[in-house]
Amino acid sequence: MPPSFGGSPSRPGAWTSERSDARPSKRLALALEGVRLATMKRCTACGGGVRRVSEAAELRIGPRVFVGELEAMQCDACGETFTSGPAGEALELAAARWLAEHGFTTGEEIRFMRKAAGLRAVDLAELLDVSPEAVSHWETGKHQAGHGTLATIAALVLDVLEGSTATRNRLRALWKPSELAMVRLDVKGGGPWRSE
Ligand SMILES: [Zn+2]
Repeated sequence: MPPSFGGSPSRPGAWTSERSDARPSKRLALALEGVRLATMKRCTACGGGVRRVSEAAELRIGPRVFVGELEAMQCDACGETFTSGPAGEALELAAARWLAEHGFTTGEEIRFMRKAAGLRAVDLAELLDVSPEAVSHWETGKHQAGHGTLATIAALVLDVLEGSTATRNRLRALWKPSELAMVRLDVKGGGPWRSE
């Protein structure tokens, strides 16, 4: 089930369940390193009692800073605050969704979005049928990526958030379009909009 973002930056249960390695978003580099809080009962610094709090976090991407409240544990005795890796990842994914929906143009944003889509530069180049150098030029700001390119990257990111590979599949299909001369379509009781 895809995590829900957009509303609350914190995800209930973020520290009670490990995310599966199969999730593409697992590949995201964590901007905010934290300790695993799954079994946290006492402060690991002083042994004091801990309680749940909200911790303001910032994520800087290109020209913009994203701010959000992360779930955290705070020690009553020494005041140390502990955040979990997945909570930081939630902020990254929420920022990726925001950029996909509101648009982005800078090299830093393109690099962030490529990583959010779980793609190496060479992978993105292949999907978009451009050279790896072209991707590099977008990300260093040497060349401006076109709107079609940016919209496709946004679609790749939104797919990851939804646990889908639809855009990736469509891009791959363009590499080898079907050679069928006649295509039989089942249009009874459904419609041509139905996919195979
Ligand atoms: Zn403490």
